[in-house]
Amino acid sequence: MDWKVISKEASAREVSPNLAGYASAVKAFSWGTASRELDGLPSGGLNIAHEAIDRHIGGPLRDHLALRFLTQEGAAHNFTYAQLHELTNRFANLLRRLGVAGGDRVATLLGPVPELFIAALGALKNRSVFCPLYAAFGPEPVRVRLNLSGARVLVTTEALYRRKIRPQLDALPSLEYVLISQSSQDTLSGPVCRDLSRLIDEADRNFQIGPTAPEDWALLHFTSGTTGTPKGVVHVHNAVLMHQVSGKLALDIHRGDVFWCTADPGWVTGTSYGIIAPLTLGATLVIDEAPFDPERWYRDIEEQKVNVWYTSPTAIRMMMRLGAELPRRFDTSSLRFLASVGEPLNPEAVVWGQEAFGLPFHDNWWQTETGGILIANFRAMDIRPGSMGRPLPGIAAAVVERREDGSVRWIDDPDEPGELAIRKGWPSMFRTYLGEQERYEQCFAGDWYLTGDLARRDRDGYFWFVGRKDDLIKSSGHLIGPFEVENVLMTHPAVAEAGVIGKPDPTAMEIVKAFVSLKPGQTPDEALRRDILAYARRLLGAVVAPKELEFRETLPRTRSGKIMRRLLKAGETGAPPGDLSTLESGASD
Ligand code: ATP
Ligand code: MG
Repeated sequence: MDWKVISKEASAREVSPNLAGYASAVKAFSWGTASRELDGLPSGGLNIAHEAIDRHIGGPLRDHLALRFLTQEGAAHNFTYAQLHELTNRFANLLRRLGVAGGDRVATLLGPVPELFIAALGALKNRSVFCPLYAAFGPEPVRVRLNLSGARVLVTTEALYRRKIRPQLDALPSLEYVLISQSSQDTLSGPVCRDLSRLIDEADRNFQIGPTAPEDWALLHFTSGTTGTPKGVVHVHNAVLMHQVSGKLALDIHRGDVFWCTADPGWVTGTSYGIIAPLTLGATLVIDEAPFDPERWYRDIEEQKVNVWYTSPTAIRMMMRLGAELPRRFDTSSLRFLASVGEPLNPEAVVWGQEAFGLPFHDNWWQTETGGILIANFRAMDIRPGSMGRPLPGIAAAVVERREDGSVRWIDDPDEPGELAIRKGWPSMFRTYLGEQERYEQCFAGDWYLTGDLARRDRDGYFWFVGRKDDLIKSSGHLIGPFEVENVLMTHPAVAEAGVIGKPDPTAMEIVKAFVSLKPGQTPDEALRRDILAYARRLLGAVVAPKELEFRETLPRTRSGKIMRRLLKAGETGAPPGDLSTLESGASD
C-alpha cells in the first residue's frame, strides 16, 4: 500500500524547529560542539542531576515551573526548578545520612508522582545508581529485579510496600531501607521502613554534588522483556549529552515548552524523556497520575497547553479506536510536535494524528540499550509514513548481515533488509548488561553495535523497521517481516490491532498467521475473517499474506505496550512461553 509523503509544512506552527534542515545539521554536528551546551560540575566532571536542575538555579529558570503533577482527582501540584533543586538536595542528604554511597543502587517502585523525580535526581546527586521499577509489577518480578540490582534502598508507597515488599522481605537480602511516602505508624514499625516525608523535612537543604566522572554509572534499566528474560542495562552520567541533544533535535523541545511524556516511569523512556531530557532543556513537565483515558488525555492537553507530546503506538491505536471526533471537541492547538516510540508506528496512525490534532505523529526508534533516540522523523523533514526516519546527527546507522562466523557483511543495496547496526561511541550507549558481560560483548562486531532489530534503508537514507530478528518469519524460502503484514491488516476498516507470527508448517517451514482484534461494533464471524484474509491477499500477494487468521479480544503485550509475538507463537507450537514477568495481564498487582 502506498502512503503519501507528509510534507514537513504539516508540522509548521510558529516556533521554528531546532533542527532546521537535516543535511546541514548532520554536516555541522560534532559531539564536541554539542557537549559545550552542557554545563559540567563547577569542580569538573559531569552529573546528570546538575545538568537537569542545578545549573538552571542561578538563571531565569529558577522560578519557572519544572513539574506540574496532576492527581487522580484532578488537582494540580506545582514545583519550580528552585523547589525541585531543594527537594533533590534534601533527598541526596538523606541518602548520605543513611550511609548510601556513590555506585550504590537506589530503586523506585512508583507511578508518575513527584517522589519519583525527587528520588531519581536526588540519587544521581549522591552519585548513586537510579533504578526505576514498574509499579504494576507483581511481587515476583519486583523481587527478581531488586535482587539483580542489589538495591540497598527502595522508594515506594505504603500500599505497594504492603502488597509487594513486606511479604517477601526475607527474600530481599540486599535491601536495607524502604522509604515510604505517606506512611502510617503501623507500617513504620517494620525494621527497614522509614518515613520519606519526615526524612526529607529533616535533611539539610544544601548539597554539593561530589566529583562525578562522565563514565560513572548513573542508571540501571530493565528491558521490556518482549523477547525473553529482561536484561539489566547500565548507563553512565555522560548519557545526559544524548538526552539533551535528542530532546532538542528529535523531540524539538524548546526552553519554556510544556512537555508531556506518557511513558510509565518503570521503562527507560520514563527516565530519559520523562525526567532528564526536558529538564536539561528548561521545559515544564506535566505528569498525570490517572490511568490511560483518551478523554482525560485530550483535556490534559487543552488545560495544560501541552506543546510537545511523546507517546506510544499502543496508546495512539487505542485513541484511534474511539475515532477522531472526540479529540476535535477539545482545543489542542497548543500542540506543536507529536512523537511516538516503542513499537512500529503503522502509517494509518501517523496520518490519524493529522485528522485528530492537525499534526502527524513522528515515529522514532531506540532501545533501552541505546539510552536515547537514535533514529527519528524530525519536524523539519518530510515524513514517509511507516518509516522510523533518519539517524540523529552524530549517529552512524547501517544495515548489515551477521555471518555464522561472527563477521559482518555490509548491505549497501537500498531496501535490502538486514540487522540494524549503530557505530559505537554515542554518549548514551549502554556500558554493560548487569552481571552478563559476555552477553554484552556479543552485541558488538568490531566498531558496531548490532541491535537485534531488522531494518532496511531506502535510497534516500530513511530507515524502515522490518521486525525483530526473533520475530522474522521464514515461509517457503521467503523472509517475511511481521510489521509489513500487520500494517496492511490494520488498514482494513474492521481491524484495530494485529499481531503476526510464523506458525510451524511441515512443507513451508512456517506459514504466516495473524491474530487480530477488532474495532468496537465489529462481529468476529467467519464472513469477516474471510474478508480480511482476502483483503490482505489482494494487497500483499499470496506469499506474504496470512494463511490463517484468528480473532482475539486483545493481544498479549508487555507492560510497556509491545505486542509479545513470542507468546502468540508459543500458543501455536506448545513451546513454553518463557519469562512472563512483564506481561500486562500476567503480572498481577
Ligand atoms: P527485550 O530486549 O527484553 O526483548 P524490548 O527489546 O522490547 O525487550 P525495549 O528496550 O524497551 O525492550 O524496546 C526496544 C525495542 O522496541 C527495539 O529494539 C525495537 O524492537 C522496538 N522499537 C522501539 N521503537 C520502535 C520503533 N519506532 N519502530 C519499531 N520498533 C521499535
Ligand atoms: Mg531488546
